[in-house]
This record gives sequence, structure tokens and C-alpha cells, in this order.
Amino acid sequence: MRCRRIVVIRGTVQGVGFRPFVYRTAVSRGLTGAVWNESGAVVVDVEGDSSSIEAFVRELRSGAPAIARVEAIDAREAEPAGRETFSIVESRPGETRHARLSPDLAACPACLGEMSDPADRRSRYPFINCTDCGPRYSIVRELPYDRPRTTMASFTMCEPCAAEYAEPSHRRYHAQPTACPDCGPRLTTVGLDSSEDPVGAAVRALRRGAILAVKGLGGFHLACDATNEAAVQTLRRRKARCAKPFAVMFPTLAALEQAARVGDEDRRSLASRRAPIVLLKRGLAAGLAPGVAPGLDELGAVLPYTPLHHRLLAEFSGPLVMTSGNRSEEPIVWDNQLALQTLGPIADAFLLHDRDIVTPSDDSVVRSFLGHERLLRRARGYVPDTLPLCVTGPGVFAAGGDLKSVFCLAREGTAVLSQHLGDLDTLEAQRSFETVREHLQRLFDVTPRAVAHDLHPDYHSTRLALDLGLPAVAVQHHHAHIASCLVDNGRNERVIGVAWDGAGFGPDGTIWGGEFLVADLDGFERAGRLRPVPMVGGDLAAREPWRLALAHAVEAGQPWPGTRSTKTELVEAMVRKRAHTTLTSSAGRLFDAVACLARLRETCSYEGQAAMELEAASLDLDMPPYPLPVIDGSLLELDARPTIAAVMADARRDAGPAVIGCRFHSALASAIEDACRLLRARSGIGVVALSGGCFQNARLAAQTVVRLESAGFEVLLQARVPCGDGGLALGQAAIATRRLFRQSLGRGPVL
Ligand code: ZN
Ligand code: ZN
Ligand code: FE
Repeated sequence: MRCRRIVVIRGTVQGVGFRPFVYRTAVSRGLTGAVWNESGAVVVDVEGDSSSIEAFVRELRSGAPAIARVEAIDAREAEPAGRETFSIVESRPGETRHARLSPDLAACPACLGEMSDPADRRSRYPFINCTDCGPRYSIVRELPYDRPRTTMASFTMCEPCAAEYAEPSHRRYHAQPTACPDCGPRLTTVGLDSSEDPVGAAVRALRRGAILAVKGLGGFHLACDATNEAAVQTLRRRKARCAKPFAVMFPTLAALEQAARVGDEDRRSLASRRAPIVLLKRGLAAGLAPGVAPGLDELGAVLPYTPLHHRLLAEFSGPLVMTSGNRSEEPIVWDNQLALQTLGPIADAFLLHDRDIVTPSDDSVVRSFLGHERLLRRARGYVPDTLPLCVTGPGVFAAGGDLKSVFCLAREGTAVLSQHLGDLDTLEAQRSFETVREHLQRLFDVTPRAVAHDLHPDYHSTRLALDLGLPAVAVQHHHAHIASCLVDNGRNERVIGVAWDGAGFGPDGTIWGGEFLVADLDGFERAGRLRPVPMVGGDLAAREPWRLALAHAVEAGQPWPGTRSTKTELVEAMVRKRAHTTLTSSAGRLFDAVACLARLRETCSYEGQAAMELEAASLDLDMPPYPLPVIDGSLLELDARPTIAAVMADARRDAGPAVIGCRFHSALASAIEDACRLLRARSGIGVVALSGGCFQNARLAAQTVVRLESAGFEVLLQARVPCGDGGLALGQAAIATRRLFRQSLGRGPVL
């Protein structure tokens, strides 16, 4: 029986080869009609016999292009019109307002197959791509996503490329960045013999131990032989990066599995078209230079994701350090001229190309635990995917925090987060924050009516938000963390929020960071905290764990066991007198203090180093947790004084960080359980949201979840958005949107 259906497919379905896929599927089933883009959706008007149509609709979901994200399919019946062919209808202008732009994607198997086929006209071509893969977000200047509005505009397609581009049944139909050796981007080198093949010359330099700057998808990497300790140390010295771990790119998954333990979830992340850096437990026969990730049992691993990486790694046939091409903590470098200037003092040679990058992005970083890929740094491959916000309202710009900066634009219930933009301390970082904001506002057609920012008055992000001159919502840091966790889980309700991190400004003027909040998107009540200790030296404390170790020791009535100097004497005196100190309830700083007392280190070269090393050193031992009593009261208080005394007793008998770390992590998980039980009895709430940078610690997160779940709680963790400060902006946006909504109803404070 002949039928006709109008099918609407919503999700990330534009710019991902969806229409050609629909065309091929319809034609192969002998159906007729048309497909077009409309208001961010793909619409198919299809007719034929009813069973073929049903199979066709099923295949829209099951057979969709790998990078498409089908969120909903609606079909309604219509009167058959008797058409005889199937066609792709061109996009009409004005239909792009709700278009969703795809992230940059790793090379697909079909393209890699062609690349390794000597007979293919794109054999060995390092810029091969198709509708299933290649650059997107990084090369788009404006929407709609068409070649003239990308940095491919300057490359005129040759005849064979143009023919593929125009052929609806071809994999490269409307593949905007399509190219071949005759018409597309080319490699060039600086500092290498230009008469040689660029990749071959680069590989020879790497074998000699050189530092190579390589232009990738979202910016430059600095690469060197990951098995050559001298090369790794040279890179550390020149980049002024003493100890922070480097990511390593392996030629193949098999090679990576020699060096690290890869679980099923990890394998999925590594092989995905998003191609993030995946944090993995190191294996025994690592063979990597010790300087790659000193002091840690984890390795940041990534597989080749651009065709150029595939060639480079295949020809080098060993692991390469691939770290962001920047000076420490500055934004990633993306422009050729800028790279030659900025990276000139670091790199011995450059492997460049002439496809420009509009929007730089670092590599994303994920770690899997408790059955989920969890983002630690959200950038290339994930941005600019949108997220549902749980609450709807007018345009909002949320500025996030100052470290691991990410901002959020929200409108009508949808949020888009910027890529990780680094720390906002430098002018370069602030400038790139502004540039990316203007760009994303244009791409997503968001006009902010209000801004949200952290409560901290001195944050750069706060100033950047207030400079817009719009109504402003100041959001407490830990409330934003919990709201981010709620939105990440698609929830809008009241929960017990455990927000543990390094530092966030509290409304009482102290530094918070070990917080229990009873919170929803409308507000929060501080229901508990770690007992505050005096902190000397403000932000210095993050780099100098001895300061908090000393303060905790003094508070616990213990003598300072560490190095003594006039500086420690002075700090001790200030702590005792509580003069020129700030109180802090920070859980992150407690971690640092315990790591220091476990004799791991007194100073750090990057924030969180001591805590990460304590996590790495901890073993699964059958030992009792340290005491960490929860003092009941209108504000619960976790008293770490007995914990510190017990840590120091263990340290005195040389128990070592494996034991101390084990007992300390279980003490924290157990105290969180105790506190949540008290808060449940008080509030009747049985859902706990865990957020804040401390829950990037997989040992702490896993133990806490196990304990809370066996105590009957439902536990929410973050996955799609970092639980660290990279997730703050999403929570701020939801809270501000809610505030605007209540205000529009005449409830809640006027902005
Ligand atoms: Zn492809
Ligand atoms: Zn061509
Ligand atoms: Fe935080």
C-alpha cells in the first residue's frame, strides 16, 4: 500500500552528512520524496510502500552517520503525492538560526583506508576528510556552515573534488572542508631540510631528540620522542613546565595497551571520533621516559586523530609526547606566525600547514570510572555540542571561574559551553576569552540579557562579565558546582550537595572548599563544612602545601615535623595568633596538607600535584580509616584535628604514603557518609550531588559513592561536564536563568 510520511529528525543532524545519508537510504529502499534542513532539524517527506517506509524510519536512527546525534524522530502521515524521484533540497537562508554546529572530529576509517591506498588520489594526503570526519568548529567563521564561511574558502576545489561535493550519493557530498593534494592545504616545514618530504624530515628530527611544533586540528602541539628522557627534559625546561604530566600519543591502540591498562570504557573513548586524551593506569612495561608523568601512576594517552598524526605516528612508529603548544598556562597557539614567534624558543623545528584555525581548542581530557566517561577538560571534539539546561529563559552569559576557565551561553533551555580557555591570569587568555565569547554568541545567535559570575569580587571572569553592563547575578562558587552537577544529570530538584574543591569565595568572606549544601537551582543553605583552619599567604597555599600542613598541625596541637626556617617560624606565629590569615574550610588544601605530612612534598609546581600524588601512592589495604568526627550542630562540622594527629603518628612510624593515603581517603568517604546521614534525617532528602575538583580523584569518588549507595542514597556525579571549575559556568547559567524566570513571575529578588 502506498503511503506518505513527513519525518522530522532533531538533534545534531546538520553539517554531519545527514541529508546524503537520508538520500542513500531512501533511494536504496526505492522510496521517493525529498529531504531538507529546517530550523535545526532535518525533514524528510517520503513516500512508498508502508513496510519500506517503516524500515526506512527505523534506519534513520540505527544507521545514522557516526557523528550525528539523533535526539528525536517524529513522523506524521500525509496524502501521497505520487512523486517519482528522491531529491535533496538546498537549505534556505534564515533556516540556520537553530542549526547546531558539529565539533571537530577524528579521521574516519573510510578516509584512513583511502589514505593508505597507493592507488587512491588522496593516498598519504594529510588533510583528507569527509562528511563523517575532519575539522568543523575550528574552521568556521560564520553560520550557515558552508565552505565560503570557513577557512577552506581560500582553496578552490579541483574538478574531481567539486564533482564529489555535488554528488548526493557520495560520501563527500557537501563535505565543506573536502580537499585533495591538487587543490587543498599543504604541509610546510621550518627548521628542516625543505627538499625532503615534510613528514619524513619531521620524523628524522624527532628520532634525533628534537622538539617539534606540529599544527593540529585546534592548535599547535609540541612533540618529542616519549621514550627519550633527554628530549622530554629539554621540553620541560624550555616550556617551563617542571612536573605537570605530558600527554602521549601512541601509534595504535595495540601499542598503547603495552604501556597502560585500558578498560572497555577507555577503549570506547580512545576510538571515538571525539578522540580525547584518556587518563589510564600505567602498566608495568611502560618503556616511556620517566619525565613524562613524574610521581603519578596515570598516563594521559591519546590516539592519532588527524590524518597528519596518523602519518607522523606511523612513520615514527613509537609514542610521542604531544603537549599543548603554549607557554605554561597560556592559551594554545593556533596561528602560524604566532607559533613561529611564541614557540620559536621552545621548538627546534616546525611542521606547518596552510589551513587556518579560527577557533583554537586544546585536547579534551577524560577519565572513566564507575562505568562512565567523565570529562576533566572539555574542549576539542566535545565543543560546541549543546546541553539541555533543565530550566528555560532568555539569553544568559555565565563567565565561569578564573582557573580552567570555561564560559557558558544559554538560551531557551539550551546551553553551550566554550572550550577550556586556560587560566585567566594573562592578558592573552582574557583576550581569547573575549574573542571566543563574541564568536560563540554569533554562531549560536545568543543575545545575553543577563550575566552570571562568581561571587569572588576580584576574579577576572567577574570583571569580564560585569563589563558587559547587563543585569548581573553573583553565584556562590560551591552552589554553582552543585547546580552544574544537577544540570549534568538532567535534574532540577533539592539535593544534599557535597562541594569539595581547592577554594571558592564564601559570602562570609572566608574561603570555602569542604562544603555540604542543601541546594537546588533557586538557592542553597550551607549545612556543613570542614572545620576551618587559618591560611597564610592566600593563593600561595595551593603551590606550597607546607603552609596548610603547618596550620593543620598547629590546630591539632602537634609539633611541626617538616623543614624549619625563618619563613615557617613566621607562618607558625601568624597561625597561632590568627594574624593576617584567612580561614579556609578547603578540602583540597586538607589533601595537600596530608600529602605533605605523609612526606610526599612540601611545595608543588602545579596546583593539586601533592593531592594527585597522594591518590597515586594510596594502596587498597585492609586498614581502618583515620578518625574524622562529624560534630552535629546547626552547621555540621567535620573535625580534621584527630585525622591530622593520626596521620602524623603514622608518619612518625614511617607508615608511608601508601598507608596514609589509604586511611585518609577512607576517612573522607566515611565522614561524607556520616554527614549525609545526618542531613537526610534533618531534611528528608535522599539524593546526594558530588561536585568540585576533589571528586576528580577517582579513589575518593568511588569510595564515597559505594558508601552512600549502600546507605540508601541516590548519588549524582558529573560526566559530560567537569566537576572542577571547568563546569562552574553551566551551574551559574542555570541558577541565573532560574532567577530571571522567578523574577518574571514577580517572585525573587529584582536584579
Ligand atoms: Zn572521513
Ligand atoms: Zn581536489
Ligand atoms: Fe571550585
